[in-house]
Amino acid sequence: MSGTFVGMPAFPEAARAALADTQLRHNLAHATTTIRNKRARVVGEVEGWEDLRLTGAAIKENALRDLERNLLALEASLQANGATVHWANDAAEANAIVARIARSHDVDEVVKVKSMATAEIGLNEALEAEGIAAWETDLAELIVQLGEDLPSHILVPAIHRNRAEIREIFLRRMAGAGRPAPEALTDEPAELAAAARLHLREKFLRAKVAVSGANFAVAETGTLVVVESEGNGRMCLTLPEVLVSVVGIEKVLASWQDLDTMMRLLPRSSTGERMNPYTSTWSGVTPGDGPQEVHVVLLDNGRTRALADEVGRQALRCIRCSACLNVCPVYERVGGHAYGSVYPGPIGAILNPLMKGTGVDEQTDSLPYASSLCGACFEVCPVRIDIPEVLVHLRGKVVDGHRGDTVPKAEAVAMRATAWAFSDSRRLALAERASGLAGRVLGRVGRATLPGGRAAAGRIPGPGAGWTGARDLPAPPRESFRGWWQRTKGGRS
Ligand code: SF4
Repeated sequence: MSGTFVGMPAFPEAARAALADTQLRHNLAHATTTIRNKRARVVGEVEGWEDLRLTGAAIKENALRDLERNLLALEASLQANGATVHWANDAAEANAIVARIARSHDVDEVVKVKSMATAEIGLNEALEAEGIAAWETDLAELIVQLGEDLPSHILVPAIHRNRAEIREIFLRRMAGAGRPAPEALTDEPAELAAAARLHLREKFLRAKVAVSGANFAVAETGTLVVVESEGNGRMCLTLPEVLVSVVGIEKVLASWQDLDTMMRLLPRSSTGERMNPYTSTWSGVTPGDGPQEVHVVLLDNGRTRALADEVGRQALRCIRCSACLNVCPVYERVGGHAYGSVYPGPIGAILNPLMKGTGVDEQTDSLPYASSLCGACFEVCPVRIDIPEVLVHLRGKVVDGHRGDTVPKAEAVAMRATAWAFSDSRRLALAERASGLAGRVLGRVGRATLPGGRAAAGRIPGPGAGWTGARDLPAPPRESFRGWWQRTKGGRS
């Protein structure tokens, strides 16, 4: 199952709270606009970008179609290169494997490369329960960890924080985790980065065990790939004696040729760069160079459940670029925490229900509705995941899951009442008369005029308040067509 922040309310409730935070909305609008514009500029430079997207989608689709064969090939290549391969069905199994490896080296701390898979399984918390500190070394992850906060973006987990807030976190929390921040620290980005660098360096030099994820895993050579911007990943992947990589099974690619296409799509789509500063690749153990003990944990944790969904399986093509978050009007206003998961935004709205299953809890079932279905996410997705299609599909599954409820939802009651009224002409006539009366009442409380001069009711009290709180409800016409026909004899009088 995908990681869900413990105790998070369903999306509408969490979104309402987030919308009230003006500082958060300001930070998000600034950050997403900047990344969005950068991405648009560098994508615009590539001739044949749409063809590249098609190729990327086909590569991932083929890798998933042949998943078993590719994974077995990856395992064989890794083993031939001296790595130990573990298979984990779920988060508990994966966490136990990593903890066992760390304990076998008698360490009480590990350094970490930014990794969505380890955030998904709650590895830091699991290691902490075993008395092992897991230090995040990516700058944004460090900010989140020191602030005892939750990540809110796939690529920039601290996107909801501004410079002043980061300075305050560093001054208050760094000392408790190692080297303190300089007392005279300002909120200049260079100074903040320097403080983080000094704080982290002693951890890199001390750590015996590192934990990473992988952006891609190439089956033909048993090569894992980490794409990053700060160089912290490279430090973790080369300095410690032991390296454990937790890799979702959907990360597998058949060949290096496939990786070439992905490396052209990912940096432009994520950070808006032509090429990211650090791309690290490693294929098992190289004697005398880098970690001499390499473990790879291949993680399912709901991915095969998603694969079994014929419409939804395309979500497993995701390369976690986060472009869909940066263009999403819903994400831009509510931020990542409202989605209650390490996977926020449009991709989170489909990935979480696909990996956990619908009908499991209210929070997950609310996610497919966290979208206006505007389609901007599909337009920017480098591997052409049709997120709106999957959202609609999942909404159907959520509704299907409630068909047998003993206490039906208000929407189901309304639909049943409508079906009952529409199935009999006398009942329909009565309903029309009632609707005309409602039209006269609502017309009086109307706050706006719709195109064509019709009244729109404002927020109406009672069960309809949730619907009309965010929409104009067209007031029903004062007279039905049937009434008009009878009164005017079909327009002749
Ligand atoms: S769904 Fe597409 S756009 Fe969104 S993070 Fe995944 S690859 Fe990127």
